[in-house]
Amino acid sequence: MSQPNPRTLWEAVLGRLELQVSRPSFATWLRDTTGVSFEDGRMVVSTPSTFAARWLEQRMSTLVEATLSQIAGRPATVRFQVPGAPTAPGVRPAASQSSFNGGDDGWQHDERPPAPLRGDYALNPRYTLNSFVVGESNQLAYAAAVAVSSKPGTAYNPLFLYGGVGLGKTHLLHGIGNASASRGLSCLYVSSEQFTNDFITSLQTRRTREFREKYRSVDVLLMDDIQFLRGKETVQESFFHTFNDLHNSNRQIVLACDRPTSALSPIEARIRSRLQWGLSADIRLPAQETRRAILELKAQEMSSAVPADVFDLLADRFAGSVRDMEGALNRVVAYADLTGCTIDLDVARRALGDMLTAPPEALPTPEAVLALVCGYYEVDIQAVVSKRRDRRVTHARQVAIYLLRERAQLPLKAIGALVGNREHPSVRQAWAKIQKDRDTDSTLDLQIRAICETLP
Ligand code: ADP
Ligand code: MG
Repeated sequence: MSQPNPRTLWEAVLGRLELQVSRPSFATWLRDTTGVSFEDGRMVVSTPSTFAARWLEQRMSTLVEATLSQIAGRPATVRFQVPGAPTAPGVRPAASQSSFNGGDDGWQHDERPPAPLRGDYALNPRYTLNSFVVGESNQLAYAAAVAVSSKPGTAYNPLFLYGGVGLGKTHLLHGIGNASASRGLSCLYVSSEQFTNDFITSLQTRRTREFREKYRSVDVLLMDDIQFLRGKETVQESFFHTFNDLHNSNRQIVLACDRPTSALSPIEARIRSRLQWGLSADIRLPAQETRRAILELKAQEMSSAVPADVFDLLADRFAGSVRDMEGALNRVVAYADLTGCTIDLDVARRALGDMLTAPPEALPTPEAVLALVCGYYEVDIQAVVSKRRDRRVTHARQVAIYLLRERAQLPLKAIGALVGNREHPSVRQAWAKIQKDRDTDSTLDLQIRAICETLP
């Protein structure tokens, strides 16, 4: 096995971070960094400026260390510094050997007793339920999070949160964790990847008992990104037992996923059926006023004075992901800090540069959705947008409604207007029916996937 060096290890970390942080943040802070040395779980990373080093240290080290630990398969810390800065004692400078030395697993096993199983990330104190802005798009998820935090293990167990990337799932998990922890409950926040690593490490180091105890002794288990359990049967098996144990003893389980349970078919059916014991709540793209409120709150958290027209610019331009929008705000604030100017529209435009000219991520148009669904079921669009109620038309209409909401992100009211002026409760009913049927009807599920594949 070839020996990874600090540079390639850091590149792997960057690859993972790119998926986790906003594009603007990544471009501003991470892209031009390099792994310099890695020894005894301590990584040194060079950054282009002291300012960037400070920013990364203060705002990103938790995430970076968690990611590095995950990839390295051991607890690890990171220090950021500009090239040429004095190296901390005990850390060898660039080009020194790393801790990899091609053992079984590529790691040097030192003499010290093995580190305790890790896999828990510290709860992020900034992600609380109070700092979560509630709007129509996340109301149900938020209400469920509050209910679960006040009565863990009773109200909704498990709570299953799903929604697109960067819409606040991780924030809510931490929010539940922080609220429960402040009430003296033990909480464990873990991503499903980390759970997987932990499980594998426990097998390799013969510490399966420790693994079991760790996961089965908590009051609240918060597991993020469970889509990564796909295709990992033994891990799923272990998760299934953990789940049952916790559930049987009325401990709370909260899971987050980037897709609804119906889209998790490669995950073992029995896990999916467990998820149906509890409550599923979705998080959608927030509307303009919610996005504005989020920006205002984030600016306040950074004690930055940001004028209204800059909020408007950001809320309009980065409508597809709260994470990207927040990253853009951070970039504007950092740029103003660096250049010593007051934030205004002009400064914001300069700070964002080409990010403003790149075309926004396109959602499929309602027309495209309707045309594809009707083409697939071979029914006339005119029939679907009329009041006709024969079975084939009704079915195509229901699927269209579902996809207009799921994929085109259209509000229910707008969908109602589009499909023959229907009232929005009846639109919601159609959406809910398809959503539910997808779980049990694999033909329907396949049809929907096939249609989605042809969507732009
Ligand atoms: P996800 O896990 O769904 O990909 P995150 O929870 O990581 O998304 O959210 C990305 C960023 O957006 C975080 O900084 C989070 O605080 C912020 N965010 C998302 N939704 C909200 C909201 N409703 N209120 C406040 N912040 C939010
Ligand atoms: Mg997340």
